[in-house]
Amino acid sequence: MKQAKRSFLVIGLGRFGESITKTLASFGHEVMAIDKDETKVNKLADLVTQAVQADATDEDVLKELGVSNLDEAVVAIGDDIQASILTTLILKDLGFKRIVAKATNDYHGRVLEKIGADVVIQPEKDMGVRVAHSILFGNFIDLIELSPDYSLVEVSASQAMKGKSLKELNLRAIYGCTVLAIKSKDEEKVNISPSADDVVKDGDVLVLVGTNRDLGMLEKELL
Ligand code: ADP
Repeated sequence: MKQAKRSFLVIGLGRFGESITKTLASFGHEVMAIDKDETKVNKLADLVTQAVQADATDEDVLKELGVSNLDEAVVAIGDDIQASILTTLILKDLGFKRIVAKATNDYHGRVLEKIGADVVIQPEKDMGVRVAHSILFGNFIDLIELSPDYSLVEVSASQAMKGKSLKELNLRAIYGCTVLAIKSKDEEKVNISPSADDVVKDGDVLVLVGTNRDLGMLEKELL
């Protein structure tokens, strides 16, 4: 399915911001990339719609650049917590539809959430959780933390699951986990809110939601 073209502002072109910028641009979206370091800006100049050397904490400069014409923003400023917070505040005031911000630690993350960042990411911490799960459980694909207690995990069907219906697997009663969707490999379709009689097939991917504890039990025993 072809995605509609979206427009992004990425601020901070360190390793994290650079890789976000390259990926968004490679999907054909409009990207304006800003960093105060000219070398980093020049490196990406040919790949994006506009690459600008500027200090993002200067509201007037951002306004002059017309950043308000863009819909979504990524604040990927790393260690300079003050600059990251101030920039997020300015973008919030400028009315961005969605702001994704990178936090360096939990306190920084809490402040970013409070001032209105829609998604807060701690790349190293988040990646650490994912890698630990993938080391422990071969069928693990991805995890999204919904809250400190609840997560959503994507797993490929294990041998123990294949050929069984959701009724037979009885994941809600045994593990307290709900199957939100089954993605099937061959038909490239997603079965949203599957019924009890739906059978898990080879190559299927299950999207499950539950408490971290319950999901942990399920992973340990079934994956
Ligand atoms: P990473 O871990 O992703 O490499 P860094 O902290 O190294 O993160 O990179 C953050 C980037 O943000 C740097 O390139 C830095 O120049 C840029 N940056 C920091 N403060 C500002 C600011 N006020 N305006 C624009 N860019 C900034």
